[in-house]
This record gives sequence, structure tokens and C-alpha cells, in this order.
Amino acid sequence: MSVDPLTCLEIDLDALEHNYHFLRSRLKPETNFLGVVKAYAYGSDSIAIARKLEALGADYLAVAFTREGIHLREAGISLPILVLHPQPADLKFLAEHRLEPNLYSPRLLKLFLSLAGETGLEHYPVHLEFNTGLNRVGFWENDVDWIAEALEGSSAIEICSVFSHLAASDDPKARDFTLRQIESFAAIVREVATKLPGKPFKHLLNTSGVLNYPEGQWDMVRCGIGLYGYGNAPQYDNALRPVARLRTHISQLHLIEPGEYVGYNMGYQSPKGGKIATLPVGHADGIGRQYGQERGSFIIGGQRAPIIGNVCMDMVMVEVSGIPCKEGDQALFFGPEISAETQASQAGTISYELLTGISQRIRREIIGG
Ligand SMILES: *Cc1c(COP(=O)(O)O)cnc(C)c1O
Repeated sequence: MSVDPLTCLEIDLDALEHNYHFLRSRLKPETNFLGVVKAYAYGSDSIAIARKLEALGADYLAVAFTREGIHLREAGISLPILVLHPQPADLKFLAEHRLEPNLYSPRLLKLFLSLAGETGLEHYPVHLEFNTGLNRVGFWENDVDWIAEALEGSSAIEICSVFSHLAASDDPKARDFTLRQIESFAAIVREVATKLPGKPFKHLLNTSGVLNYPEGQWDMVRCGIGLYGYGNAPQYDNALRPVARLRTHISQLHLIEPGEYVGYNMGYQSPKGGKIATLPVGHADGIGRQYGQERGSFIIGGQRAPIIGNVCMDMVMVEVSGIPCKEGDQALFFGPEISAETQASQAGTISYELLTGISQRIRREIIGG
């Protein structure tokens, strides 16, 4: 029995399973699959998702930061975990938790090498990210010689994989740019094969990469958003199933007169009067103020009820004049009934931001699986 059982983020593990198989079906059978579970598995529940991915046979997991990896290890997750963006001060905690760092810069590689030497690590698995045009983190192709030199004579680390990240794999207009990134990565792969020790595996594609550029799959792919049910294009959204469903309920109904205002700063004025519903979720829960002023809406009784006026910290008001409903009735913000992508695009953002922003104040409820 939980407090306010009507407000929660439902996490549907059957939907995750469907999405996993859909993404895998786009790959060669031998391609490895890394599930990206950073940011609480895109705002859902990283432990439940990681456990399910482990059971489904995923080969790898990735998180952004070291503490996210520690969180998974402490919950008993045993798959290899790639930490995409470790920070210098974290490096000493990685080995203790069998976390595999992405060493994305000369500074980080040098630091980790000296630390690994000091602590007596042998062949510790690390990954090297290369920059092919995103210009975010990573080595440049012409760093390969420097890396080879830095590694000479040390058996402390083993380069487990080399990878890069696409900047615009979801954008058909950026096709030429993406093909150039794939080409650059191919060149890096050739350099690495001749100059670096070991036989690192290679990976480039994120979800939209898998869907739009399957020729770039190499040995592994790294899927995040697709696992959670969004494919950055209507045809893929239709094939995938949203994992998270944000539901709440009507706390109170009000009948208002024409000309009355609703919410802070007189954010809405009712032209004809009518019925408004107050719902117990707000910007502190991750429904930002950009969803106010009728940009976002809730599904109540199968109909869309727009958010009127300004989103409050803990509440929103929605217009329900034409909708038969009563206090306690269910209200849905995203999920199978209305996509997070639809809501996000109305508010000028993307599904990733809406999903990852749902605060920890909202209870997670695992269903299916
Ligand atoms: C977040 C991330 C991914 C996952 O991208 P999606 O578009 O969610 O599939 C893959 N690789 C890297 C390096 C990332 O940072």
C-alpha cells in the first residue's frame, strides 16, 4: 500500500522486451548490444531496466557517470558496464566496482595509466572514444600515435573497444554529414588496427544510427532511447512501445465564470467559463513551465485536456469543460496513450529531456516482465 497510489511513473518491462527485440531484429545476429541506462535509464528505473536487459541477453550496459555505475553494481548487476564520461577524481573507484572507463582524452588516459600502474592493475578493460564530428569528447584520429606511445611498456590496461558517437543520426537532412562520420570512424578503425595493441572491438551507432545506418554497426551498438520506446521518427515510434507511463489523477474540479483567471500571475483567463481540473504534478516533478499555456496536455477520459496558465511547482490546472470526469479520475501525461515525443515537441524540446526530467519525487511502479 503506497501513499497516493494514483500518481506514478509506470515502467513496463514487457514494452522494454518488445523494443529490445525490435532493435535486435535490425542487426546482424553477431552484433553485440549495449543498453544505455544513464540518467536512471532515461528517467525510468535503472536497476529494474538493467536487470531486465541482463535477463534478455544484452552484452553490455553504459552509464554516463561513475556513481551511476556504482549504483548498478550495488544492486547486483554483473554485466560489463561502460562509464561514458568518467571524471578524473572517479578513476580510483572504477576498478573496485569493475566499471570500465571511457578514456576520452590524453589527460584521462595518462591519469588512468599512472593510477593503474600504482595500484597494480593488469589488463584492466578500458574504452577509447574518438571524435568524428560531434566535437564533444574523444580523441582525434591523429592521436593514435600518441596513444600507442603512451601505452608502450605498460600491461596495466587493455583497450577493450574503440568507439565514436554520431551527431545527427536522427536527421535525414544530415545524411551526408553522418556518412562522413561513418567514413572517419572507418579510417580510425584502420589506424587502430595497425598501431594499437590488442584487438579492440568497435562501435558507433546509437538508436537512430541502428535504425537509419545499419551499415555502420561494426561489433556492437549502443541503444538508449529506442529501448524506452522512442525512435526519433514516426515510423519507428509506431514500431516501438513506450516503456514509461506518467499517470496521476484529478485532485479537484472547479467551475469558473467567464473572465476568471487560473493559476499564478493570472496565467490563463477563461473566455467562456467552464470546468477546470487540478492535478497533483508540477514543475518539481519534471513537467516544466514550458508545458504551460496549452502546450502540454493530459489525457482524461480518453480526451486531451490542455494545461492552462502556468505550471506550478506541485500542480497543474487543465481545461476539462467538454470532458465528462470527476475527482479521482485518471490523467495521463505520456505513455502509450500520448507519446512523450508529442508532448515534448509541443513544448520545443525532445522526448529525451521530458523522460529524463521526471523527478525522483514520482514513485516508480514496475509492471510486466
Ligand atoms: C546517450 C548515448 C547513447 C544512446 O543514444 P540514444 O540516442 O539514446 O540511443 C549512445 N552513445 C553515447 C556515447 C551516448 O552518450
